[in-house]
Amino acid sequence: MNQFERITTNSEETSQFAAKLAGRLQPGDVLALEGDLGAGKTTFTKGLAKGLEIKRTVNSPTFTIIKEYKGKLPLYHMDVYRVGDAFEDLGFDEYFEGEGVTVVEWAHLIEEQLPLERLTIFLYREEGDTRRMVFVPQGKRYEQLCKEIFS
Ligand code: ADP
Ligand code: MG
Repeated sequence: MNQFERITTNSEETSQFAAKLAGRLQPGDVLALEGDLGAGKTTFTKGLAKGLEIKRTVNSPTFTIIKEYKGKLPLYHMDVYRVGDAFEDLGFDEYFEGEGVTVVEWAHLIEEQLPLERLTIFLYREEGDTRRMVFVPQGKRYEQLCKEIFS
C-alpha cells in the first residue's frame, strides 16, 4: 500500500502542511484523522481551515459531533469520539457527499459508515513536540493528491 510520511517538530509546521493540503481539496473529499488525544488532529484541522480561508476559530466539536464552517469550500468537522460505537445511521453520508470537505477525528469509530475512498492521516506523538504524520490514500483521487502534496 502506498503511504507517505512527514515529520513535524512544532504545531505550526503541522498546521502549515495541512494548509498546503487544503489548497488542493475538492468538494466531497473525506479526510479521516487518527491518533491519540493530543496527537494533533484538531491542530491539523485548524491548519486545513486556514488553508480554506475560514475566518472563524475551529475548536474540537467533541460535544456537538459536527461543526460546519464557511470558507473557500465548506468544512465539515466531525469528532466522533463520543459517538463511540453507535451503529445507528447518524446521517453522515449527507456530509460525505456534500459540497464541502469532511474531516473526521477518531474516524475508525465509524468505520462502517465511512466512504471506501478517503485519505486517512495517522498522527503519532513522538518525543516532545515531534509528530509523525502518515498519509494513507484509498482510491486514485487520494493517491494523486498525496503525490502532489509530497512532490
Ligand atoms: P487532538 O485533536 O489529536 O487531541 P490537538 O490538536 O487538540 O490534538 O492537540 C495537540 C497538542 O499538541 C496541541 O496543544 C499542540 O499545540 C501540541 N503540539 C505540539 N507539537 C505539535 C506538532 N508537531 N503538531 C501538532 N500539534 C503539536
Ligand atoms: Mg481533537
